[in-house]
Amino acid sequence: MEKKAFVTKEQIEEIVKTYPTPFHIYDEKGLRANAKAVKEAFAWNKGYKEFFAVKALPNPFIMNILKEYGVGSDCSSYTELMLADKCGINGNNIMFSSNDTPAADFILADKVGATINLDDFSHIEFLEKTLGKLPERLSLRYNPGGVVTISNGIMDNPGDAKYGMTKEQIIEAYKILKSKGVKEFGMHAFIVSNTVTNDYYPFLAKQLFELAVEIKEKTGVSLNFINLSGGVGIAYKPEQTPNDIKIIGEGVHKVFDEILVPAGLGDVSIYTEMGRFMTGPYGMLVTKVLHEKKIYKDYIGVDACAVNLMRPAIYGAYHHITVLGKEDKPCDHKYDVTGSLCENNDKFAVDRMLPEIEIGDYLAIHDTGAHGFAMGYNYNGKLKSAELLLKEDGSVQLIRRAEKPSDYFSTFDCFPEFADLAK
Ligand SMILES: *Cc1c(COP(=O)(O)O)cnc(C)c1O
Repeated sequence: MEKKAFVTKEQIEEIVKTYPTPFHIYDEKGLRANAKAVKEAFAWNKGYKEFFAVKALPNPFIMNILKEYGVGSDCSSYTELMLADKCGINGNNIMFSSNDTPAADFILADKVGATINLDDFSHIEFLEKTLGKLPERLSLRYNPGGVVTISNGIMDNPGDAKYGMTKEQIIEAYKILKSKGVKEFGMHAFIVSNTVTNDYYPFLAKQLFELAVEIKEKTGVSLNFINLSGGVGIAYKPEQTPNDIKIIGEGVHKVFDEILVPAGLGDVSIYTEMGRFMTGPYGMLVTKVLHEKKIYKDYIGVDACAVNLMRPAIYGAYHHITVLGKEDKPCDHKYDVTGSLCENNDKFAVDRMLPEIEIGDYLAIHDTGAHGFAMGYNYNGKLKSAELLLKEDGSVQLIRRAEKPSDYFSTFDCFPEFADLAK
């Protein structure tokens, strides 16, 4: 599918008068339409709920927009719990799916009433010791092990992943929870990331539903919810076909009716914890071309770098690039698009065919709405960018200011001689 930027060159030229590049900009209209489609796709399930994986885009403005569609938060850490709570998202609207969890995080999760999803068998005892009791509602994370192959050949290797419990452990764990007075039970699994196929959720659901039936038979525990977690991907590349959430919802519905309903488990609520699918396509990193350098290759140097978007540097991930204002020009120039870090992997694109680029052009780097800004860091003393929201009426709102040098120096406030820089 052709990938189009949701802003024009003219819009950006207006925006930069107030907010200089680089920045991430999010498309409120797209976010809302997608959140609505997700809700409708699972409306067949009475207890359905999406818990947005906060780590993908931890911004309260975005979380509040999603909240209007009944979306809660999937948190994985102390500060993410604080963030969700501050947004008025708490109680059963928070799923706390963490691993290698510190005691303080469990304590806060319990305090805000989050549903705790235990990553490991040993965490039952750890949680009981930490809280002095077990919560009445608990979820357990399952890892089926082995290698996953879905119809179109996407593979992943849960047997090599640090998350979740084995089948034997999880069955034993439900027995223990039941004997300790836990009243509401959930099951969770996340086995493949960024799947671009409508088959992933139904494939996972089938495994979890079959296991739910087995758990009921072996332990007498009837699960209250099954959490399909994240992993629904987006089409980063133009040649990919985006997932269709309606087809995905229907696919899960079908296996639900085939497996859970006949087993007397038709009341099970389906939960999801999508991050990437909820926000990924509705964000772009906008950056300005500063330099062109011609040595053995032709390099376009921009004012953003890997601290603004790490995925290309760490995974070699593809992010589509639009040269704003040159959408209709032929892509007849080959470039590496680079940032300014002293790291040769600081490249947004390698050998990318693009229209001829001039200094001062604005580039829109697509699909940065999830795992984009959020992964940022401060290497080379680089500061994190602003985040902007392109509202439905076409106006722009600052939803996080850019970092200033004082933010970078603020953790030196233990040294009096740094006090002036930290201001
Ligand atoms: C990262 C994560 C998600 C979201 O994953 P996406 O691929 O962004 O959908 C959901 N649940 C858990 C536990 C995660 O770690």
